[in-house]
Amino acid sequence: MRGVHGVENAENDDACSGAFSSHEGNGIEMTASAEDAERSQLELSPEEMLALASRASELLVARISGLSADPPWRGGTREELEPLLRSAAPEQGRPAREVLDFAAREILPRASRVDHPRFFAFVPSCATWPGVLADYMSSGYNVFQGTWLGAGAPSLIELVVLDWFREWVGYPETASGLFTSGGSAASLDAFVAAREAAGGPERPSVYMSDQSHTALSRAAHIVGVRPEYVRKVKSDGRFRMDMAELARAVAEDRADGLTPIAVCANAGATNTGAVDPMPELADFCEAESIWFHVDAAYGGFAVLTEQGKALLRGMERADSIAMDAHKWLFQPFEAGCLMVKDVRRLESAFSVEPEYLQDTQWGPGHPNFGDRGLQLSRSFRALKVWMSIQTFGVAAFRRAVAKGMELAERAEVYAIESELLQVANPASMGVVCFRFNPRDSGLSNEELEAINKAVQAKVISTGTAMTSSTRLRGLYSLRFCILNHNTEWTHVRETLEAIERFGQEELAN
Ligand SMILES: *Cc1c(COP(=O)(O)O)cnc(C)c1O
Repeated sequence: MRGVHGVENAENDDACSGAFSSHEGNGIEMTASAEDAERSQLELSPEEMLALASRASELLVARISGLSADPPWRGGTREELEPLLRSAAPEQGRPAREVLDFAAREILPRASRVDHPRFFAFVPSCATWPGVLADYMSSGYNVFQGTWLGAGAPSLIELVVLDWFREWVGYPETASGLFTSGGSAASLDAFVAAREAAGGPERPSVYMSDQSHTALSRAAHIVGVRPEYVRKVKSDGRFRMDMAELARAVAEDRADGLTPIAVCANAGATNTGAVDPMPELADFCEAESIWFHVDAAYGGFAVLTEQGKALLRGMERADSIAMDAHKWLFQPFEAGCLMVKDVRRLESAFSVEPEYLQDTQWGPGHPNFGDRGLQLSRSFRALKVWMSIQTFGVAAFRRAVAKGMELAERAEVYAIESELLQVANPASMGVVCFRFNPRDSGLSNEELEAINKAVQAKVISTGTAMTSSTRLRGLYSLRFCILNHNTEWTHVRETLEAIERFGQEELAN
């Protein structure tokens, strides 16, 4: 049998490499022997593992280095993809390298390249290499990050990284939380804590602006808030929560016998990058004794910069904050995070202590992350942040975040100066919205919508860039979200120029 220790592996080397060389490093089949018969059929030899991992690294590095020469979007309809990819689960396997190459050639490229320097749609995500390798390593060690017993040092690293975030946002030492799949799960966990803090009322209500992410309404619904009591408060002229509207909604609902359990602020709304008035919201929630939650899923890491810190002032007064390291902290999916100002409120909401986990109660200072949220079996997500920050340093991340904001501002200036573009919403937190609308064009909104839709489709079909559109106060608008540390001004400028050109072509038609 092959052992786990280096010495035993070395002893087995000859036997393994002998069998291996007969297949030239490609296969998983081995020469039959008594040893092989005994061995797990799910195991590869060390040489095969290395060869396969090197091949995977080679493919990945080639993909990442060649990214900007590729179009930022590929995909396909169900009809197109089914014949390429549908197969029954094979009873017998085939060479591992063949399987890997198939995945790299036929499956993985047929998707959005959210890390492409000209991917400006939705919320981009461009992972750093140490973050990618951290996921590989933690999968390889198969860390069980649900209890301290299960993962001592990894749990401490999760605490350490959460403490970095805590200091960045200006939270006190009582604050901590957990890594989650993303902002959706983080908001869900926050609402459970909020509901419990409000005493688990029978008819709970939650408040957010009409610009809030749908993840929040879904999370509120899941924790037991009826959809009609997930209040979408009107936003003001700059897409920020209207405080008077909020106060009115809360007063009305209280009069109707509802119990408000949470008010949510956008710290970077997905649509426009808008930041709700957090100091006012904090005052309001304090006076009304309502849990104050901040959805900083994409915008939160802007606190690393001076400009972002100023924009996000008041965030530190929230009861909870959700942030996605897989967005503006350049980590691979999934790397969401929830921080609760008094982490005991999170633990008391989630903690249950079944008999079969009694050995895992190590007492104060040894949190079981499984007691801070939904997941018991959890991966070691914090490692990617830790490895990336250790490798590049916070200063490099600060510059990368600042660059996104600067590029969005430059795009806004470009649109202001252009005879052909019209700003729909100024740059905020890396997001800028505009539409093709030649000065004094006299075109109706309907005509402009048709033209801009055609432009948007052409930007994608020509492989120029990946952009997405939105609707602002009912008007169709193009939207750039620029959060990629590899995006340069030329990428942005060339896309803006293409939009001007495509718009003029549409006009001429
Ligand atoms: C991305 C995002 C979410 C949802 O987070 P997931 O990580 O996709 O679960 C929620 N709110 C905002 C503002 C976001 O940008």
